[in-house]
Amino acid sequence: MTSSMSESSIGVSPGRVNLIGEHTDYNEGFVLPIALGHVATVTATAGGTGVRVGSAQLGESVDLDELSPGPRAWWGYVAGVVWALRERGHSIGPVTLDIDSAVPLGGGLSSSAAIECATALALDGLAGLGLDAQELAAVAQAAENGFMGVPTGPMDQRASLWCTTDHALLLDCRTLTTEQVPFALPDDLVLALVDTRSPHVLADGHYAERRAACARAADALGVRALRDVTEADLPAALARLGDEVLVRRTRHVVTENARVLAAVEGLGAGDWAVFGSLLTASHASMRDEYEITVPTVDLAVEVALASGALGARMTGGGFGGTVIALLPAGRLAAFTAALQDAYARRGFDLPAVSTTRAGAGGMELSSRA
Ligand code: ADP
Ligand code: MG
Repeated sequence: MTSSMSESSIGVSPGRVNLIGEHTDYNEGFVLPIALGHVATVTATAGGTGVRVGSAQLGESVDLDELSPGPRAWWGYVAGVVWALRERGHSIGPVTLDIDSAVPLGGGLSSSAAIECATALALDGLAGLGLDAQELAAVAQAAENGFMGVPTGPMDQRASLWCTTDHALLLDCRTLTTEQVPFALPDDLVLALVDTRSPHVLADGHYAERRAACARAADALGVRALRDVTEADLPAALARLGDEVLVRRTRHVVTENARVLAAVEGLGAGDWAVFGSLLTASHASMRDEYEITVPTVDLAVEVALASGALGARMTGGGFGGTVIALLPAGRLAAFTAALQDAYARRGFDLPAVSTTRAGAGGMELSSRA
């Protein structure tokens, strides 16, 4: 028997990497993430007076008496889940939330969604809420959008919660419907993750500017979102837009949505060469049309292709972050060496290379004691 003071529940949820579909989310299009092996664990323990949040990574904890939305520090991502649940009428009593996460913070692998989703799972178990998959994702996203005030799209939390082992998750960002797409790498291929160690200088302003351009283009074309423009419509749509910048942004979004769907087809057919070539085409589009790459990521993609990659691209919002490369397993060591060498020659901070497979989505490890 345990007293209510020691009732606890553990939620575990992973980081993610988006295989293809960049800047398509806020255009109500398609994304294709996989879950990583790196997970966040949040232990929710009932008791105390308010909400206490601790992080093993930061070596800090804070006590919160009341929860009101607004720009917050790190603890807001988890306290925000308590807030979101209460906003929806769920009774969440005094609780301690202890974070321990292996997802690198701010590295574009969605450490924020990992801790939000782990918290949602832990609180669901602790309070016996029985939330379904859609509700769990919605409260985790509300913590980020509503409580923290960070205007991110729907991908990260769904990827963290809904991905399954050896599958990528095709997410329709308009309907929030999904499809599990086989992503079991054969033994002779690896998916390399390159941390390009590039600072995201001014990334926030660029992000807002890209979003605004897409909204303007959709407006000018009389559609709800650029998702509504098909590849067949594209030449006529671009002619109507006229404005050079809007043309480039629109061309990226429309072709990127088509690439996601083509990638799903390629994976369904087990055609890794097709999948790889779509990654590379996505990168070229981000570089030339959406203009969100920087020299460090372009170099990593170039070196990957020169090292025999089937395809490579920057993943995430842009201006640095992570590059993924689909490589023959036997080329990984040579690629890593060539990359270090190329970065050193350009005077860039040396990148870190790891590999990943498609891991499992979040789960509740234990329910109430
Ligand atoms: P990403 O989600 O790509 O890692 P974000 O900027 O969205 O980057 O989220 C990173 C933020 O999430 C960190 O700055 C911190 O506030 C919070 N965070 C993530 N993991 C932890 C952790 N283990 N402990 C405390 N805060 C964390
Ligand atoms: Mg994040």
